[in-house]
Amino acid sequence: MGLWHKNSQSGRVLQNAGRVVATFRGVTVFMPSLTSSVKALALGLAVTLCLTAPATAQQTDAGFDRWLDELKQEAVGKGIRSQTVEAALAGVKPIERVLEKDRSQREFTLTFTRYVRSSVTNTRVDRARRLLEEHRDLLQRIEVKYGVQPRFLVSFWGLESNFGEYTGGFPVIGALATLAHDSRRSAFFRNELLNALQIIDEGLIAVERMTGSWAGAMGQVQFIPSTFVNFAVDFDGDGKRDIWNSLPDIFASAANYLSQEGWRGDETWGREVRLPAGFDHSQASLNIAKPLREWAEVHGVTRIDGSPLPSADLDAAMVLPSGHRGPAFLAYNNYRTILIWNRSILYALAVGHLADRIAGAPPLASLPEEQPISLKIIEEMQALLNAKGFDAGEPDGLVGRQTRAALSAYQKSIGEPADGYPTMELIEKLRKP
Ligand code: CA
Repeated sequence: MGLWHKNSQSGRVLQNAGRVVATFRGVTVFMPSLTSSVKALALGLAVTLCLTAPATAQQTDAGFDRWLDELKQEAVGKGIRSQTVEAALAGVKPIERVLEKDRSQREFTLTFTRYVRSSVTNTRVDRARRLLEEHRDLLQRIEVKYGVQPRFLVSFWGLESNFGEYTGGFPVIGALATLAHDSRRSAFFRNELLNALQIIDEGLIAVERMTGSWAGAMGQVQFIPSTFVNFAVDFDGDGKRDIWNSLPDIFASAANYLSQEGWRGDETWGREVRLPAGFDHSQASLNIAKPLREWAEVHGVTRIDGSPLPSADLDAAMVLPSGHRGPAFLAYNNYRTILIWNRSILYALAVGHLADRIAGAPPLASLPEEQPISLKIIEEMQALLNAKGFDAGEPDGLVGRQTRAALSAYQKSIGEPADGYPTMELIEKLRKP
């Protein structure tokens, strides 16, 4: 129970159901409110115009430098040494590529099938198994201390950085300064920038080696600076918390983070299940947690091979990432903890599935071909639902909780499985007067 009710993020997770919004952790990259590509283009043009038309490059630089001076004062006021601040921010300028990344928008929904096929490949599974064997002693020592099973740590490591291969080549200070100076999410990134300066001030990493994603996710487990400050640990005992190069620190930091967020070392994350004919798909919601026993006895859910669900005393929520035609999962408390790491439901399923594959489980039983839908058409669908009296809220192209509920009610009204999952077939029906 606990976590299911404690975490207020559930609604926001649901708002992103079915779409990966960000693959790095912690940073909430929801789609901007303007969602159609036409609007995006207009926004891009408007931004470009106000940045470039009235101000010369020199004036823009002067504005940034003034902003940077204020930031330096704030950092020093927080107890970070001024020599650290000056050295770390020397010559820092806005990075155009970071702004481009921040403003780029997905034009289509990302499907679970596509996501899981690209992130949980046989090659990655094989490599993960080899690496788990190679580091088994270390991983087991970490499991004893933090209670996180090795296969999950290797799974996060694989998905976050392909086992340390892709940690991002952006200078973290420059990237965070760019985003903190930019108006869109300045408060969030300003705080991350201050945390990054603190990490440098503690001598944990040299500024030129502090590299990460365009949004400041760092090292082999892609921690943003505040996560690093709160959760990274020194497990190899050299006095430094090093999530870039020290595998003991990398695994232990991930384990500590998960453990602090409620991970249970004696439970798995969830499992793929089989639904009986006539299952009420509107029961599939992260807001609906029921005991396993109830899923089995009242709803007729079984393991994927048809055998009974485990008799463990666990609460679980049903997740249908591809709607009623796709795979069904019962997700336990640890799934909720994965969602704290990254709120994408697709990411969380991929972490769990990769961990299962590492332990020898077969690929998922069903992965239907799914058709990505343009966000413009999702907006149209929302307007159509509203027009028919199913309140999907202001059309915004996001398949959120309200849109799913409206779609589910519409499905129910026409006698279709009420999974709240948008398909072109359904949208064609909605288009009919
Ligand atoms: Ca260390």
